[in-house]
Amino acid sequence: MEVIKGIPVAPGVVIGRAFVLEEVLERVPYHPVRPEDASRELQRLDDAIAAVTRDLEADRDRAAEKLGPEPAKIFEFHLGLVNDHALLDPIRERVADEHITAAFAVAEAFRALAAKFRAMGSDVFVQKASDIMDLDHRLLGKLVGQSRDRLAKLDDPVILVAHELTTSQVASLDVTKVLGFVTDAGGRTSHAAIIAAALGIPVVVGCQRITQYVNDDECVVIDGRAGMVIVRPDDETIERFRRSAQRQADRQQHLVELAELEAVTKDGTRIRLHGNIEFSHEIEQLVANGGDGVGLFRTEFLFLTKDRGCEPTEEEHFEEYRRCVELLGGRPLTIRTVDLGADKYTQERAEEPERNPMLGLRSIRYCLQNIPMFRDQIRAILRASALGPIRVMFPLISTAMELRQAKMILNDVMQECREEGIEYDEDIPIGIMIEVPSAALMASTLAREVAFFSIGTNDLIQFTLAVDRGNERVANLYSGANPAVVQLMKAVIRASRRMHVDTSICGEIAGEPLYTMLLIGLGLRTLSLVPSQIPHVKRVIRLVDVAACERLARKVGSFDSERQVINCLREELENVLPDRDDGWSVA
Ligand code: PEP
Ligand code: MG
Repeated sequence: MEVIKGIPVAPGVVIGRAFVLEEVLERVPYHPVRPEDASRELQRLDDAIAAVTRDLEADRDRAAEKLGPEPAKIFEFHLGLVNDHALLDPIRERVADEHITAAFAVAEAFRALAAKFRAMGSDVFVQKASDIMDLDHRLLGKLVGQSRDRLAKLDDPVILVAHELTTSQVASLDVTKVLGFVTDAGGRTSHAAIIAAALGIPVVVGCQRITQYVNDDECVVIDGRAGMVIVRPDDETIERFRRSAQRQADRQQHLVELAELEAVTKDGTRIRLHGNIEFSHEIEQLVANGGDGVGLFRTEFLFLTKDRGCEPTEEEHFEEYRRCVELLGGRPLTIRTVDLGADKYTQERAEEPERNPMLGLRSIRYCLQNIPMFRDQIRAILRASALGPIRVMFPLISTAMELRQAKMILNDVMQECREEGIEYDEDIPIGIMIEVPSAALMASTLAREVAFFSIGTNDLIQFTLAVDRGNERVANLYSGANPAVVQLMKAVIRASRRMHVDTSICGEIAGEPLYTMLLIGLGLRTLSLVPSQIPHVKRVIRLVDVAACERLARKVGSFDSERQVINCLREELENVLPDRDDGWSVA
């Protein structure tokens, strides 16, 4: 039995058998397979070789047609190599005798051969080494592809174990096949993790090297709240976690009861709890949990769902927003214009990937350089605004100029709608995310030009502290409790109050009960969070009064370390919760 600590993303306990998703990595991890599965691995290897051969022949023929016979020769070398018995037989023998995965055996053999060529020194041999690595990637790519196909064809659900899942992979996961998942890489607020939390299955990320400890079909337990994964648990551990899973199921009943109660503090202050969503269907859960509206609709996920080869049309945007308005039944809907880039979409499509995509052409910047796409979305938002209360929000604003450009385009599309006789809300509220320190520092100026702010702490934390939100190696430095982050939030809330601009928060800390008292104490009266956390946060709201929250915020303002802030928040929360260890989400 092995206990592995990772970063908790989505709560819940599941026990199931592992499915290890293979990846084309620089280092393919060693994986034994059961002796009875060795023949399956050999078959996978033969299938991969056959598929690569077909691809190479097609590439050779295309190259010959376009470029002539000489360049096509390079593919003959590849073809010879991929069918070379001297290279392949030892790989087959290792799989059969040592019971290891085909991927591991391929990677070791090809990399050893490439190293030999490289050591010969001359340019010709160095080039050969790079051809061998190219072939290695092709073969591993096929083996990984087979692994994905196998996942799609599984009969019984599994626990997915992967090095890393991209945002679009998570968005396309079939939750009837996946009980939960764990990854080596990733941080608490990486976009893949945020989507995972919305899927309603337990998730732990940032486990560093879990893919090396787990093999297909082995039993795995995920405790999503504790961020813990147990590999090959003993019977006693399995029984303990079964009981814990049962307790969680019983607790669902309390969630239903809380949904009907208002989010109001003991002294009668109403706190609005809005939902962060990625897809319209999440609104059902939001409404069932007693949510007051949608505070953040991450519309870029329309671009990221499975097999989308093209951008969504105006009509597709409109349909999705119309569905949201209908499901919300009069509750407000805040639509954020697409926040593509960084870890979402643009890099896979760029001819040349950016060197530093987190700070690159992303979000509003990407929209301002792709105006037809931006206009299509704005038209759809405006058309939907005739059907119900909608607000439009621009992400990652870092200068007033950017905001003005975005508003200019919005005004232009409004004018176009007017001319075409398309109905829309002339007074549609326009707001921005405050998620870059420059915007936080300029909040008073920006407040003159918008109706509302939404503080995006997920990015604000990463840019204030210079800590990549998706990197498990620096996850310990990424914290909303850092005094610099608290000071920035405080300054934004103050500025917005002075300027009479409505302010809410939509970063993940809004869904963490640990922060609820602090956020109220800083002056926030609207929080936007993942819908599944609404009951947990509401529970805290109903146990506190505003004066105590304000006292806490003042106290926190005097601390100079993240540890002091966390300890203080924890202590205060434990004081208000009637039963500390009742399994509710505390952090
Ligand atoms: C944020 O940055 O806090 C936010 C809510 O936006 P996203 O997580 O989509 O970047
Ligand atoms: Mg953001």
